Amino acid sequence: MDPRLEKYAKLLISVGINAQPGQTLVIRCPVDKAPFARMLVSEAYRVGVRDVVMWWGDQFISRETVLHAADEVFDTYRPWKADEMNTLAREGAAFLSIDSSDPDGMAGIDHSRMIRQSRVFGPAVKEYRELQMADKVQWCIAALPEKNWAKKMFPGVPEEVAEAKLMDAICATMRITADNDPVEAWRAHNAALNERKAKLTAFNFKSLHYVNSLGTDLVIELPEGHYWDGGNSVSAKGIPFNANMPTEEIFTAPKRDGVNGRVVSTKPFDVGGVIIPRFAFTFRDGRIVGVEAKDPRHRELLEAEIALDEGASYLGEVALVPYDSPISKMDVLFYDTLFDENASCHLAFGASYPNVRGGADMTEDQRKAAGLNQSITHEDFMVGSRNLSIVGTTHDGREIPVFVDGNFAF
Ligand code: ZN
Ligand code: ZN
Repeated sequence: MDPRLEKYAKLLISVGINAQPGQTLVIRCPVDKAPFARMLVSEAYRVGVRDVVMWWGDQFISRETVLHAADEVFDTYRPWKADEMNTLAREGAAFLSIDSSDPDGMAGIDHSRMIRQSRVFGPAVKEYRELQMADKVQWCIAALPEKNWAKKMFPGVPEEVAEAKLMDAICATMRITADNDPVEAWRAHNAALNERKAKLTAFNFKSLHYVNSLGTDLVIELPEGHYWDGGNSVSAKGIPFNANMPTEEIFTAPKRDGVNGRVVSTKPFDVGGVIIPRFAFTFRDGRIVGVEAKDPRHRELLEAEIALDEGASYLGEVALVPYDSPISKMDVLFYDTLFDENASCHLAFGASYPNVRGGADMTEDQRKAAGLNQSITHEDFMVGSRNLSIVGTTHDGREIPVFVDGNFAF
């Protein structure tokens, strides 16, 4: 057994989900990762949880169900299943999910069956979902290697080698080494992220100016009252937790109509399995008015993505990630947003997070008036590079370096 797994389990229980004495912990885990689930359970009882509820999953069985179950199954749900989820969330349980799946494991199935199922089950678990989305309960998602995922990331080497490489990659992103204490490393990492987000919020920048040697020259205005988010969240009971592990980004919302200039992507962008190595967007008054890609088919794919609805051609996220962060330095594509969005400074076209004061409780019209973008899509694309510079301009005209040579200036 890899000794790093023990450290990983401790890290997830004490920092990721931060399970509390007397609390119920729900663990979702694939059945073939049961040895790791057992470590999580032992560690959870060591910190004094009341009890652990296991929700086992299996991608193969999920696939078989979608392929072969009776058709009416997808228009119904079992009320006791929804009741269990809602009740646990209402009682203040914490929800830890272990993701270990084949990125192509559900390829070729009839997606309309899954959509029908979520149409009936989604409203039934509204209470659970809302408590989680608003960070009122602790929740955490983290990953373990899976063989087909490893083979996709590291093609051309034997399966065991690929899986070992993926485990090394995950441990590097999780700041787990043979001789460190990752719990300490994450406490320091969260403290650093929290300090930076507070500093950025206090500057109250009017705009950010991005420039690099690849041809990026972009000004992004930020809305009145915006704040920066990132690092750990805090539950309704005041318990800090990391909803996603790993996490490197600090992010806010751009001002919908305040984006001008050109930005060049710096990492491969995946549109439904097609990998676009590089592209550029030109913005005028917030809207994407130009799409460049070497391959005309790639340009067409991108044009279709930003034409999904009105808001799809405007930005919805501004995220800062240092070029020297562990995920960035690895320079591999994980085919999993949990990791890939932490690899580089990124922007997203589509919906905004409600990152203005009072934004979470605003109506749709109020969000629009506050400068936040709305869309059914939200797609991250990477723009960070070794020599990216970002200069912030304050409302009284001061210019403050935010990024110098790809990393934070402060
Ligand atoms: Zn992001
Ligand atoms: Zn995003």
